[in-house]
Amino acid sequence: MATALLIGRYQPFHKGHLEVVKEILEECDVLVIGIGSAQYSHSKENPFTGGERLSMIAEALAEEKIPLHRYLIIPIPDINNNAAWVSHVKTYCPPFDIVYTRNPLSKRLFEEANIKVKEQPLFDRHKYSGTAIREKMIAGQEWEGLVPKGVARVVKKIDGVERLKSVIGND
Ligand code: NAD
Repeated sequence: MATALLIGRYQPFHKGHLEVVKEILEECDVLVIGIGSAQYSHSKENPFTGGERLSMIAEALAEEKIPLHRYLIIPIPDINNNAAWVSHVKTYCPPFDIVYTRNPLSKRLFEEANIKVKEQPLFDRHKYSGTAIREKMIAGQEWEGLVPKGVARVVKKIDGVERLKSVIGND
């Protein structure tokens, strides 16, 4: 039984991430979705907490009717030591056989630890990008169509757009 790990910040989880999850689930039995930088929130780059991001992903995957036994969602805080990061990730996750990432640093660190890494295909990266979505939220532009409905619901419930606008405000 093959277990895959997909690691990302998901600030927020968008339709590109959802396509990646569905595609990886075609290739593995169980997918571990690691929420990186889990201790960060309330900043321009990381507006949402690890727990809020977990809710967003859970809502989005439930909406897609992906069976619960096919995935796990695990918040993983960053550490100030890249060389030790893979061991740190392993302590949070069940054993995994392969990692999917396009992040150059993550790719390098897993490869140096002799873990198989595969790059998932990109889904309209220009449109489906966390940075672009956060910029739209700040600018008051339409962003809801770029994320699964469950994600938009969680962002609204936590007043996420107002939070993002207020944390970037100048004093
Ligand atoms: P992200 O949320 O930006 O992306 C998650 C994954 O989805 C990435 O592989 C990305 O390439 C992919 N993706 C994004 N948009 C896509 C699209 N439209 N189509 C297809 N794929 C798409 O997260 P990230 O920045 O890659 O996350 C890496 C995490 O690992 C961060 O939290 C980082 O801090 C953590 N990390 C920590 C350490 C440490 O603590 N020392 C070291 C390395 C990495």
